[in-house]
Amino acid sequence: MDDQKDRFGDKIRDLEKAREDQWAREQDLALIEKMRARQRGLQCPRCAAGLVAQSRGGAAVMACPNGHGGWLEADALERLGEPAK
Ligand SMILES: [Zn+2]
Repeated sequence: MDDQKDRFGDKIRDLEKAREDQWAREQDLALIEKMRARQRGLQCPRCAAGLVAQSRGGAAVMACPNGHGGWLEADALERLGEPAK
């Protein structure tokens, strides 16, 4: 009986985890959509390729598809920390 209860608890935890993952994915997609709408037409300053919206660690990033770097919005940049002085 206790064993069954534990398994039920595990199932609930799995379900909660799945819901959190789903929520995180939706947040990522929303961020990416927002970024795409605002930054349409941004180009890589090195190779002029159109930047591609990606989600990195919960922040939307417009990145060069050829790996030259990316564009972070101010709020995402702030989350990385204070500028060095
Ligand atoms: Zn580039």
